[in-house]
Amino acid sequence: MRFLMKTFGLLLVAGLILAAAALAWGHFNILRIHPDLPELAQITQPDRSLELPVRITYINTASQRMPRSAVLDPDLDPHPDASYAMSHPSFVVEWQDGRIFLIDLGMDAGAAIDFGLPMEMVVGAEPIEPHDATSIALAEHRKRVAGIGFTHMHVDHTSGLEKLCADLIPRQPDSEPIPVFQHHNQLAQVNHTTRGAKAAVHAADCTEIRSLGFETGLLSVPGFPGLYAIPAAGHTPGSTLYVVQLRTYPGGSEGFHDDVQTWVITGDIVNHYQGIEDGIRKPPLYSLLVVPENDEQLGRVRDFLKRLSHEPGVELLVNHDRNQLEATGIEKY
Ligand SMILES: [Zn+2]
Repeated sequence: MRFLMKTFGLLLVAGLILAAAALAWGHFNILRIHPDLPELAQITQPDRSLELPVRITYINTASQRMPRSAVLDPDLDPHPDASYAMSHPSFVVEWQDGRIFLIDLGMDAGAAIDFGLPMEMVVGAEPIEPHDATSIALAEHRKRVAGIGFTHMHVDHTSGLEKLCADLIPRQPDSEPIPVFQHHNQLAQVNHTTRGAKAAVHAADCTEIRSLGFETGLLSVPGFPGLYAIPAAGHTPGSTLYVVQLRTYPGGSEGFHDDVQTWVITGDIVNHYQGIEDGIRKPPLYSLLVVPENDEQLGRVRDFLKRLSHEPGVELLVNHDRNQLEATGIEKY
């Protein structure tokens, strides 16, 4: 018995040392990664000669109500008692020829339950409500998925991929693997919070990985005109913003007059829109212990997004802020 107790104690100590080492490495690594952001004019002056996408919608795969103190530093939040619901969306971008590009895939019901339980225990969240997984919401249109990008490698953004691949089987013999685009930082820089999701994304059997290279700034996603990735880091080494330049027809689709609406998908740079508008950081304990973050870089990205959001024709989409998503008027798929 004493031997067992001693072994258990030693294993516990070893586990704690390993966890502390992983956390320390995560902090060391994220502080080294601070990619330059593009000029606003590169985003606000779209290339209208391109075959721009014509529709953006979203699929919210799960919702969970929780106190705002879980996502905004309560010492800086002027409205800590306001209601907040965390959403887990997949954004569906469509071109005239029917091709779909997915930005994030959210979670299926099982993954949502696994994700939601610790939130109940740690931050006093209500039970998570799983909605339709991305593959279920797309139904037969899942065959039109021609490209995928992830804002970052965390399971609440990536785990819907497994079901998409499973539902695409049997695939047509001539069907090409779906390219998953990743910047070098998302491909090669991992920490203990991203390793599992990255491994699962790379093991998916309906996709293949395409590198977006090492460059920073506004990066075109090859084959998808009007879609751009911006390496941002801050939250995870590979955190990426996505910009969608959408062709719109304010006078109806028969009209000759067209316009461009710019949507910027922010991933988890903030988890509440107020984080951008009022420059409020996440709770310090979250950035210290849960996900090792670079708040200096996050501050730069928050400021960049705020300036961008004040430009005409630009709208932000904050993944985890359900009220904000609904307020933008973006339609559900
Ligand atoms: Zn997330």
